[in-house]
Amino acid sequence: MKYISTRGDQAERGFSDILLEGLAPDGGLYLPKAYPKVDAATLARWRGLAYADLAFEILSLYIDDIPADDLRAITRKVYTAEVFGTEAITPLTWLGEHIALQGLSNGPTLAFKDMAMQLLGALFEYELGRRGETLNILGATSGDTGSAAEYAMRGKKGVNVFMLSPDGRMSPFQQAQMFSLQDANIHNIAIEGVFDDCQDIVKAVSNDLAFKREHRIGTVNSINWARLLAQVVYYFAGYFQATKSNEEKVSFTVPSGNFGNVCAGHVARMMGLPIAKLVVATNENDVLDEFFRTGAYRPRGTADTHETSSPSMDISKASNFERFVFDLLGRDGGRVKQHFTSPAFELTAGEHMDIAGFGFVSGRSTHADRIATIRRCHAEHGVVIDPHTADGLKVALEKCDPAVTMLVLETALPAKFAATIHEALDIEPPRPAGLEGIEQLPKRVKVMRADVEAVKAYIHAHV
Ligand SMILES: *Cc1c(COP(=O)(O)O)cnc(C)c1O
Repeated sequence: MKYISTRGDQAERGFSDILLEGLAPDGGLYLPKAYPKVDAATLARWRGLAYADLAFEILSLYIDDIPADDLRAITRKVYTAEVFGTEAITPLTWLGEHIALQGLSNGPTLAFKDMAMQLLGALFEYELGRRGETLNILGATSGDTGSAAEYAMRGKKGVNVFMLSPDGRMSPFQQAQMFSLQDANIHNIAIEGVFDDCQDIVKAVSNDLAFKREHRIGTVNSINWARLLAQVVYYFAGYFQATKSNEEKVSFTVPSGNFGNVCAGHVARMMGLPIAKLVVATNENDVLDEFFRTGAYRPRGTADTHETSSPSMDISKASNFERFVFDLLGRDGGRVKQHFTSPAFELTAGEHMDIAGFGFVSGRSTHADRIATIRRCHAEHGVVIDPHTADGLKVALEKCDPAVTMLVLETALPAKFAATIHEALDIEPPRPAGLEGIEQLPKRVKVMRADVEAVKAYIHAHV
């Protein structure tokens, strides 16, 4: 399998070449030249597989430059009941005859990002070892991504992580999760400022090409193709759990921000998984809902990005969205480039109609909706859900077709968002075993001014 850019650069690259890369050189995102198609016999064979072996089968269709035995060993090491809590890895919780939550957040940091990041950690260690290289990952986080990256990379050979976060602005639980890590290759840097200050520093360091090369700076952001590929697997796993035969269709509702999660659903559908609808659920930051309703994509500025009670979906532009638009526009890289180098764009009426053929519909929710949905789910099913999953469930209930099973992707556990659970239910959210008292553990963090040179000096001294 070879990979091309969404912006017209026709150079073909192998999986191992793009694994450690961010954007393509022309500013586009990488996608496979064509989606491998899964026929009925293959689907039937996959139905009985354990999650790790299903992951191996799907990854094998996209990765031809890692020996099969090595790849199988990697998926079996990553997707275990020890790390993800159950043999199913992404178990279903039924809320009715035709609607279930698919649990994606039983990994070490209690959010779905572990599903991909754990695999990425193993792939990075493998590839760097094979090349005899090292990598220093620099990132900025306001919560879920940073902790998922740190738990995936902790103790990995050849990798250091430098993670910037806004000092004092993450939830106490999120701070405890990251800062309690004592691994020598994990460096927490709390910046005196807000998330944007952290992100600006990451950009400034990455734009210093000499520093970047000399210190082998890399990233693990959500546009990484390997992350998206890892997420394709659980759409198949959810489908097999929800159905008895491959004649049936299933729909998915996906709480969305950067469009990475639901883009993996799009890839699964393009491969031939019988998906009826892909429902994109947003919060008040509804740039994606607006697009699917109107055909106009209008990214917003920081000033117009609301801080909400589902903070991991508070985005102003959806960094993975370009991949879907590339497919929607018949893979016309020139037009994609034109659209994504403009401040905003609008589809033609015909193109807007084409969206239906890809199964996409959308909806949005508000803080009041989340609270009401958390209460309703608790009252009717005795299940406590987190605010992001609540965004999904609210929209799913609106878009549900009684003839088609709906799977709502659970993207985080409520334990991460105690304040909102308190507001909705007046209870402490349940915490997985082993995480009681995590806030009292010793913290390993360096507090620094929002100063690019100071961060560079810190990295230089620690690699
Ligand atoms: C990252 C995240 C999302 C958004 O996922 P995207 O892939 O960015 O669309 C939703 N919910 C939670 C809990 C997250 O951490």
